[in-house]
Amino acid sequence: MNIHEYQAKNILKSYGVAIQEGKVAKSPKGAVEEAKLLTKETGTEWFVVKAQIHAGGRGKGTVKETGSHGVVLAKGIDKIEEIVKGIVGGTLVTKQTGEDGKKVNKVLIAQDVYYPGDCEPEEYYMGVLLNRETGRNVIMYSTEGGMDIETVAEETPHLIHKEEIDPKVGIQPFQARKIAFNLGLEGKAFKEMTKFVTALYNAYEGTDSSMFEINPVLKTSDSRIIAVDAKVNIDDNALYRHPDFKELRDLSEENSDEIEAGKHDLNFIKLDGNVGCMVNGAGLAMATMDIIKLSGGDPANFLDVGGAANAVTVEAGFRIILRDPNVKAILLNIFGGIVRCDRVAAGVVEAYKSIGEINIPVIVRLQGTNAVEGKELIDNSGLKVHSAITLQEAADLVEKVMK
Ligand code: GDP
Ligand code: MN
Repeated sequence: MNIHEYQAKNILKSYGVAIQEGKVAKSPKGAVEEAKLLTKETGTEWFVVKAQIHAGGRGKGTVKETGSHGVVLAKGIDKIEEIVKGIVGGTLVTKQTGEDGKKVNKVLIAQDVYYPGDCEPEEYYMGVLLNRETGRNVIMYSTEGGMDIETVAEETPHLIHKEEIDPKVGIQPFQARKIAFNLGLEGKAFKEMTKFVTALYNAYEGTDSSMFEINPVLKTSDSRIIAVDAKVNIDDNALYRHPDFKELRDLSEENSDEIEAGKHDLNFIKLDGNVGCMVNGAGLAMATMDIIKLSGGDPANFLDVGGAANAVTVEAGFRIILRDPNVKAILLNIFGGIVRCDRVAAGVVEAYKSIGEINIPVIVRLQGTNAVEGKELIDNSGLKVHSAITLQEAADLVEKVMK
């Protein structure tokens, strides 16, 4: 589950990670009020307004309707209203959102932490994630913060350091010191960094996250170390251990087809091809997507209906796939092991009738228990459904209807 920057920062703060303080608002007027409160609490007079969407690259991104960037400095409380008007309610397009962009419903009014002082502020990169190969967590960090880390990885990979943490013992003091040293820090900033990275790692562990990305981590001009940005992904499989995280979910940031599928316990991922597919089992679903590709189509989705393919789930699957105007054909590929093919076939016929007009070709491939009976049921239904038993037959049908 992805969460917003302001939510991530609240969590980090509760673990003792120093952050750029801020307050969230939904409207220009509300933002002014929040800015006033922020000034009272922190003494801040300069602010930065940050669009809250589930995507990075906001600083360089552009709001379609107004041309504003997604992260804008406000040198004075009197600038806030105008700036927020240019962002909230608009559609922010960044490198990570795709052309369609994302609607901005909220902004974070944060304190400007790049104030002048004894030394120049410095930006670092820090990420925490799981290395599946070693089964350990890894802290990735670099002096090259503030910019696209993918570019750093490509052009100057030697500037990205990795520190593996054994999850059984957690982060050790020597590891925190090594990270601060490799970032070239000394004195107060060195100490602050060891505290920062230790608290950050503990937050990652404590929240059962699968990814943290803090870019930039800032060394202020008075040598404090703080998180200016925060991307946090919490492992869905661990959400049951954190009932309080439920309210952090923002459905408006998620694909509506995927939300609908979730309600029916369907494992659905939206893709941008033209052949919809519905399959039982994730492995068979992957193979089916390959078949579609090889037959000259492009999968419009991944959909695993799981072990319980019945009339209700099949109908729900059909309806979700049909919402996509790009879909030119649907391939249903079911292996009857525990579910019997004739049951699935009956479900298809029922779903087909209940939905009414389906104006695109539907190919049903049934294999396994009672496959022949299933095929007969479909062939005798009088519906415009193509049936197949072998994968090759199904592939040939896809090729034929795609022409
Ligand atoms: P992202 O573009 O979505 O990654 O959003 P960030 O939160 O990382 O902000 C983008 C950039 O804005 C950062 O890399 C900083 O360089 C800059 N920025 C963020 N906060 C401040 C601030 O308080 N003051 C100044 N001067 N720049 C900031
Ligand atoms: Mn960032």
